[in-house]
Amino acid sequence: MRGLPRSGAAQPAVTVRAPAKINIYLGVGPRRPDGFHDLATVFHALHLGDEVVAERDEAGRVTVDVVAADGAMVDVAAVPRDKSNLAARAARALGRYAGVECGVRLTIVKRIPVAGGLAGGSADAAAALVACDAVWETGCGRAELATLGARLGSDVPFALHGGTALGSGRGERLAPVMAPARLSWVVAVADGGLSTPDVYSALDDLRGDAEVDPPTVPDALLTALRHSDVPAVGRYLDNDLQAAALQLRPRLQEVLDEGRQLGAVGGIVSGSGPTVVFLADDDRAAQALAADLVASGTCQDAVATGGAAAGARIVAG
Ligand code: ATP
Repeated sequence: MRGLPRSGAAQPAVTVRAPAKINIYLGVGPRRPDGFHDLATVFHALHLGDEVVAERDEAGRVTVDVVAADGAMVDVAAVPRDKSNLAARAARALGRYAGVECGVRLTIVKRIPVAGGLAGGSADAAAALVACDAVWETGCGRAELATLGARLGSDVPFALHGGTALGSGRGERLAPVMAPARLSWVVAVADGGLSTPDVYSALDDLRGDAEVDPPTVPDALLTALRHSDVPAVGRYLDNDLQAAALQLRPRLQEVLDEGRQLGAVGGIVSGSGPTVVFLADDDRAAQALAADLVASGTCQDAVATGGAAAGARIVAG
């Protein structure tokens, strides 16, 4: 347990940015008796991210508001403002852990599509942990925040970590991966979201009684990343959830086909979908591809971005 914040010394407000994640590779093991699946994944943090502004609330309340970032096409109405919001849950978890009596007003500035397979809720939880640690002066280390975060969602530790990392277990066990300093991506945003549990159930149904091997990340992908071999990274992009996401949302196949035809180095459904991500040769190619995808009308929006971005960090305050 940590002590109460020192009076007068705490920052009254901070802004923390946290990245969206994609899975360059996502291998999904058999359904475990507890209903979860072991993963073998390569996480990659995008510069596309949300910001969480945290202000101390001396009355001890934890409240959350959600707004769209300027120009971002995000369905903020789909994000809960009540106790179930992952950022609010993260704040309460840290407050309990550190014995803090002060509350916090959280404002989430959203750029990450909601229920898009980009772990936006986990990014907000990670940002809230870092922001509340600062305004409450709890003095927790990153490892403590990651342990708290893993209880809220398996993608939260990666949103704290950032960069490019191997994920195992449910995705909460991380190890760094040598990867290019910059990869150029296009995020093709679909209309509406997909429920992650529904996509995993569809995968279990597709697999039926078939024997499923424990997942592993191919060495060839790790070699391609280590050598900054972008065409090879494009060839090894893979996602075991893709077939299930396509079954639930068949029109995503058109997006994948269109992006490849328009010159993408590779493309996959991101995590549980329905966002599709394309790897491009460089930032200029990504800008052009994003414009062409929007013009094709196959997706609601397309955003050029890059990776690997840092994990949740203070940007103002
Ligand atoms: P998951 O992380 O479960 O794989 P996802 O990446 O597809 O999901 P998220 O944007 O994290 O999608 O949203 C999943 C659901 O979580 C939303 O439908 C929403 O109801 C709920 N949610 C709770 N808090 C948040 C938040 N801060 N931002 C977005 N969604 C949230």
